[in-house]
Amino acid sequence: MSTSVFYRALGIRGYKHQSIQEQDGGLVVRVRHDGGELTCPHCGGANIVRRGTVPRSWSTVPIGRKPVTVFAEVPRMECRDCQTQPVVPVPFADSRRSYTRSFERLVLELRESMTLKDVARYLCVSDWLVKDIEKRWLGKHFAKPRLKDLRHIAIDEIATKKGYKYLTIVMDLEAGAVVFVGAGKGADALKPFWRSLKAARAHVEAVAIDMSAAYYTAVCDNLPDATVVFDWFHVVKLLNDKLSELRRQLFREAIDQLHKDVLKGMRWLLLKRPENLDETRNESQRLQEALDLNESLATAYYLKEDLRLLWEEPTKQAAGLFLDDWIRQADASGIRVLQTFAKTLARHRAGLLAWYDHPISTGPREGTNNKIKTPKRQAYGFRDPEYFALKIKALHHARFELVG
Ligand SMILES: [Zn+2]
Repeated sequence: MSTSVFYRALGIRGYKHQSIQEQDGGLVVRVRHDGGELTCPHCGGANIVRRGTVPRSWSTVPIGRKPVTVFAEVPRMECRDCQTQPVVPVPFADSRRSYTRSFERLVLELRESMTLKDVARYLCVSDWLVKDIEKRWLGKHFAKPRLKDLRHIAIDEIATKKGYKYLTIVMDLEAGAVVFVGAGKGADALKPFWRSLKAARAHVEAVAIDMSAAYYTAVCDNLPDATVVFDWFHVVKLLNDKLSELRRQLFREAIDQLHKDVLKGMRWLLLKRPENLDETRNESQRLQEALDLNESLATAYYLKEDLRLLWEEPTKQAAGLFLDDWIRQADASGIRVLQTFAKTLARHRAGLLAWYDHPISTGPREGTNNKIKTPKRQAYGFRDPEYFALKIKALHHARFELVG
């Protein structure tokens, strides 16, 4: 193998072979400037005088399992045109970095399938360096997503640790990409987003949110022309929570152990969709027996299943009639949690039916939510919020989907 092929493999250009030696289990490759013409990196002028050299070293791609360090005396010069003394830039590395561009590319490639710690260990460098390389790459591609063409968005929050520390996330529902990550939850977390949106002159048509007041007010204030769509995913989830609440209440009031046991055993069955009940474990039968014993739970269960049809009506008008009927039934059930829920739906009627104008949902975002759990498991996410936010924004990009 000629030395030029060897140096190309190491990603080194513009410098010539001097020596290779083993040192501390790795290889040190010494190279020298190839003596070509120098021009001033500032003004491009050739009116220069050489002024000695500056010693520099870079990590580059390993040979086998041996880490490789490149060492060179980099010429320094004095430019007579612009009166500066620049160090000549090397063609194989960014002037501010301690590694070559080939090394940078290798780190990014390995990160597609290895954890940050594994890459650092494999390349014998610090976790910090690997993260730094990745963070700059992510920043270049995802720090400022294009907002101008946003039409349909969803706003939601995620808990980064159980119960506290929230992030507010805005998703472009057409591209399936997270376009904003804000610290905290509620209206304040969204303020920087509104500013960027305004600057981008975007025309958002519809926003999917849950039925909590905080986001609703923020959206109405900042996007007065957009349609608010209360997200079916969150509505169904909220009703599931009400059903669990009712089951717990009935459990506390149960007259005997049999009723308690039955209520305990049906905890998860209540929340499953009927088509997902496991027949090999007699789940439908168990659920039916439990419902037969608890009239109010049965009423609530069937109303819960029924509500899903709100998003399957042929027209908005039919959906309106369906919703009003559902609210009447829930109110007539005499079950307090259902009555409260019915009131909530009645208050949000317009935004629920707006789904028929813009059938959008954070349903797709919930898929992202699961992916967010992957980088979440890595402690780096917490220590460096900026890096964590970039990772979330890059999630739709296959390259960084799975490895934290
Ligand atoms: Zn110059």
